[in-house]
Amino acid sequence: DVIMEENFSFSSLVLSPPILQGLKDSGFYKPSPIQLKAIPLGKCGLDLIVQSKSGTGKTVVFTVIALEMIQTKRNTPQILVFAPTREIAVQIEDVIKTVGKNIPDLGVASFIGGLPVEDDIQKIKKCHIAIGAPGRLKHLVEKGYLKTQSIGLLIFDEADKLMEQAFQNDINYIYSKLPKRKQVLTLSATYSEELCKFLENYMQSPTHVTPENASPMLLGIKQFVTVVKEYINVNRQIAIKTKELTQLLSKISYTQCLIFFNSQSRAEGISNTLNRDGWNTLYISAAQSQSKRLKVIKSLKNFECRILLSTDLTARGIDAANVDLIINYDVPFETATYLHRMGRAGRYGSHGLCVTIAGHDTEVKKLQGFLGEIGGTELSIAKLPDDVHISDK
Ligand code: ADP
Ligand code: MG
Repeated sequence: DVIMEENFSFSSLVLSPPILQGLKDSGFYKPSPIQLKAIPLGKCGLDLIVQSKSGTGKTVVFTVIALEMIQTKRNTPQILVFAPTREIAVQIEDVIKTVGKNIPDLGVASFIGGLPVEDDIQKIKKCHIAIGAPGRLKHLVEKGYLKTQSIGLLIFDEADKLMEQAFQNDINYIYSKLPKRKQVLTLSATYSEELCKFLENYMQSPTHVTPENASPMLLGIKQFVTVVKEYINVNRQIAIKTKELTQLLSKISYTQCLIFFNSQSRAEGISNTLNRDGWNTLYISAAQSQSKRLKVIKSLKNFECRILLSTDLTARGIDAANVDLIINYDVPFETATYLHRMGRAGRYGSHGLCVTIAGHDTEVKKLQGFLGEIGGTELSIAKLPDDVHISDK
């Protein structure tokens, strides 16, 4: 398969026995190409800018590097992981706990806004690895609850997102409280050149690590566009797009579907419309409470919800193995967002389909612009045929 590298196993990476066992127990037998390449470099203590496509196992890259470095005898935070959304933070916590479950006395906790700080203060008492969105972590550092003097490894998951203006103050505050000597890892499917430059502010001559085939495109995902009627006005367009959406949901045979919107109110509104028409959908957006959001993500992962409508809140990082259909109800604003949305399907080399509903010429042009920017010939985007199958198998 695309993702499997000949005969290497995790034991060829010379990992400690509890971690090897943890990987096996998690169902991970062979490293993915990025794991094979990045884990040994990370274990040497190098600063790394890790780039590989969505769904190729970047979480396990930093999980293994982190677990190999932790000293559980020292009861103090040693590793800090930044994630751009709280949902991703919780997901990372789960992966680290699962892979690390054979390490005695390991403390792993996520700290996220919207949940009570009192709980955090309890969790910090036994925490070697702290994961969180920058806002809550900053709060905990500032108040002196989260001690930073022993942090030896700093991780930015979805680094390009974390470098956006909105996170800068919180991240810089925390960074200023960290020891001078530390290792820094950044991970994403997408980086611009400027961003790599910018990241160097936080790193010591970082090594760029990408698998051989560096294209950010996902080979297992077919992309299509369906163009609906000329734009007349907003309400008319919503009616037409929603009709197109329900037709897609009827004719494509998918396992689980994520539908992306550019606005919170639209995701909520269309979800309500669909539910009134007998569809069974959920929606998620930052307008909801944190506990509601975590519940919705759980329903998605536990396969209790087949159709989830979402803003770009879940465009990145979220790993739900059964999602095989992505629909862009709105064309996203940026190329990276298009790639990340699409990356919610095709996890770990599986097949998937991405259909963009383009409402009018400007949306079609925008989409073509993205494809031009990504480059390559595999990218021509076809009109959606009448009978379309997710897998060729
Ligand atoms: P990324 O962050 O690169 O988008 P994730 O870390 O979320 O990808 O991993 C994607 C999926 O691949 C997850 O469901 C994870 O359990 C699975 N996975 C990761 N590494 C392996 C491996 N070595 N073998 C099998 N499955 C793996
Ligand atoms: Mg990820």
